[in-house]
Amino acid sequence: MHINLIRVPDPTSIDDMLDEPLGLLYVAANLLKEGFDVSISDYRGTDDICIKEADMYGIQLYTPTAHIGIKIAKRIKRMHPWAYIVAGGAHVTAVPYFDTAGVFDMVCYGEGEMAMPVIAGYREKRGSQSKIWQANTIESLDAIPFPARHLVPIMDYHRKVEGHRCFGIIGQRGCGYKCMFCDRALFGNRPRYRSVENIVKEIESCIDTYGVWHYEFFDDIPFPNLARIQHFGEMTKGMGLEYRCNSRSDQKNDLIFKEMQKTGCKVVCFGIESGVQALLDAMKKGTTVEGNLNTIKMAKAAGLTTMGYFILGYPGETKDTIKKTMEFVDNSGLDQAQFYTFVPLPGSEIYANLDKYGAKLITSDFSEFYHVTGTDGHGGKTIDTPWLKADELHEEMQKVRKWLKERNSKGAMQDYYKEKLDYKTA
Ligand code: SF4
Repeated sequence: MHINLIRVPDPTSIDDMLDEPLGLLYVAANLLKEGFDVSISDYRGTDDICIKEADMYGIQLYTPTAHIGIKIAKRIKRMHPWAYIVAGGAHVTAVPYFDTAGVFDMVCYGEGEMAMPVIAGYREKRGSQSKIWQANTIESLDAIPFPARHLVPIMDYHRKVEGHRCFGIIGQRGCGYKCMFCDRALFGNRPRYRSVENIVKEIESCIDTYGVWHYEFFDDIPFPNLARIQHFGEMTKGMGLEYRCNSRSDQKNDLIFKEMQKTGCKVVCFGIESGVQALLDAMKKGTTVEGNLNTIKMAKAAGLTTMGYFILGYPGETKDTIKKTMEFVDNSGLDQAQFYTFVPLPGSEIYANLDKYGAKLITSDFSEFYHVTGTDGHGGKTIDTPWLKADELHEEMQKVRKWLKERNSKGAMQDYYKEKLDYKTA
């Protein structure tokens, strides 16, 4: 039985070949382990959607590109009407009323690694199945085989650390914080961690197979305490790793940053979101402007390059608060900053309560739900608020981008991002 896993194109993304399809590589690895024949079609970076013949397809859907995935599924049904098509991913998990448009045979909610071999096994035996599969939360992340990187041209993706091609690592799933804008439907509210041993084993196998010493941890908080980073340091001593990762912006223990620096961390990224306390409170971020400033200072003192992520346009945002956030960036000493347009993602608390927070959804077209306006100027116009209309926010974002482009920054990633800021503003 052949299973083809599909990542759909993202034509308006500023770089749709930035990252390998890590989620699908995980699902593929477990299917391979269970004896299935698997291929991955990553349609990113190509206009040529050449459908492979397979007995079963798994299509990963994200909110802004879900419509493209539905089109691909319809095409598969026309070409291979006997094939079984499963939809999965963050979008279907966040949208329980997800309309399968009659084209998907099954919708798999939740983490797909353990579920997909079971679904494929039923399918192989032609067993009866419901249209919906609720996958169990995976408690032991160490039980998932390492991503099947050999199924894609892994060195062709673009993400870099310190100018070197880096691989993505996921060492944690789930988050216990309650930020209103965040969609935690897929991985849940409880942080689960892989063991440090298991992560280091994966890194060693990537070094042996691909000669890659550069990594990006996609975890929300890969090193939440001193013990974990010290353990990682002991296990990777002398390996010469360099990596980039996230940290909470209210991290108060400077020893964690010092250990991160010693273990090869070059850039630490913080979800700061805003330079205005009232907005942080409205987002239920649980951080303070002052705490964020202190954390940035500590990380810089430890020798790390600091990067901040910001959201513009959350209900309550005004032209004045945008200016204040820009001032925050300048005063904070942050080396790099990236700004995203607020969109109310399905699965987030704010999405379900927009009225309560004074916002009005102006479109139900999910292809508008991009945090970053695409190369064709599309995306990001999803809500009007009494403080800013969607069009006004779009204009403000263009000004911020111009300012960002002119701002001094250091580090390969920010330079790369700056190059990509040249796109239409329609
Ligand atoms: S934004 Fe980050 S800290 Fe907040 S809930 Fe989401 S993952 Fe957790």
